[in-house]
Amino acid sequence: MRGFGTTIFSEMSALAVQTGSINLGQGFPDTDGPPEVLDAAIEAIRAGHNQYPPGRGIPALRLAIADHQQRYYGLAYDPNREVLVSAGATEAIAATVLALCETGDEVVVLEPTYDSYSASIALAGAVMRPVTLHHPDYRLDIEAVRAAISPRTRLLLINSPHNPTGRVLDRAELTAIADLAVERDLIVVTDEVYEHLTFDREHIPLATLPGMRDRTVTISSAGKTFSLTGWKIGYAIGPEPLQAALRAVHQFVTFATSTPFQEALADGMEEAARNGYYGELAAAYEDRRRILTNHLSDAGLEVLPVQGSYFLMAGFERLGFSTDMDFCRWLIAEIGVASIPPSAFYQDPSTAPKLARFCFAKRQTTIDEAGRRLKQLGAFRYSNSPS
Ligand code: PMP
Ligand code: GLN
Repeated sequence: MRGFGTTIFSEMSALAVQTGSINLGQGFPDTDGPPEVLDAAIEAIRAGHNQYPPGRGIPALRLAIADHQQRYYGLAYDPNREVLVSAGATEAIAATVLALCETGDEVVVLEPTYDSYSASIALAGAVMRPVTLHHPDYRLDIEAVRAAISPRTRLLLINSPHNPTGRVLDRAELTAIADLAVERDLIVVTDEVYEHLTFDREHIPLATLPGMRDRTVTISSAGKTFSLTGWKIGYAIGPEPLQAALRAVHQFVTFATSTPFQEALADGMEEAARNGYYGELAAAYEDRRRILTNHLSDAGLEVLPVQGSYFLMAGFERLGFSTDMDFCRWLIAEIGVASIPPSAFYQDPSTAPKLARFCFAKRQTTIDEAGRRLKQLGAFRYSNSPS
């Protein structure tokens, strides 16, 4: 866990504000979500949906979430007993880990590891066992996962599309995880917050694989899908016995999450299923991905291919910085562009490859301004870098 009161995301965002940098660091869009969803929230407030909702979420949103899983993935869930609405995916992850792990249990995760996993595992008194996805392909090595499993293993915590690498695990990789989970009788928690942001390959929910529905907790976030990260509406879907444990934690961590935003997103999810919203979202982001890739490449950075999420990883090796933290701090101070050092996603930061993560969930004007600033990189090469 990083120091109290800070994460690498908030630290980089605060630096970006202080320095007037273009913020391609913390992952959030710089445009609002669909106007009709914004209007629905205002209407919900005016209509008096302002008191505590049911702890597990309002019925209309739970129904919309269950319908979404059925429509897009053919997965049937009972909206009353198998869906929990949470304060973002962050709370769903924490509640799941706290609910399902006892002190000393082990949780196998993929490294690079999204920062809240290590914190949630530590809060539960459990132990994190990272399995590294190796640069540059970041393919899953199932034998490494097998080797990380011990008699104390309680959960596998998977993330695809993966933050920060942009990997989308393919069917062979997911099948290997599923087979292993069944063989070792493990519960799998799968963080699929970028489920609708895939480009060159289809997202396959882990729960669709044989034997997985009843041992999988699927976590997602309306904040990501509807570009409303500040609304903090996420959810966890899974079989009733696991849900009962999650609800037990959720009721004393947050009890419930914002009523009017739930009302608005229930409408938003229903409408999205009718009007092709998800496809349009991916197409718009695909365009941004291409534009930012071009800017980073023009600046002489080596951009890695990305299959999903709204992040690009770019190598700065030729610039001579010894760590990604040095590079990212310098990039903010001297160039005016904020990114994220992916070493924050490693248990041992010194093992991180020399890359920076850039978020392309931004307006084209924002990305183009970042591109304009990044052009200066050529001039600073070698001479100003501190190696
Ligand atoms: N998981 C991953 C992989 C994420 O990138 C994020 C945040 N972007 C979250 C979980 C947290 O989602 P939320 O903002 O809904 O809490
Ligand atoms: N998930 C976002 C990212 O990866 C950050 C969210 C947060 O700051 N908690 O950038």
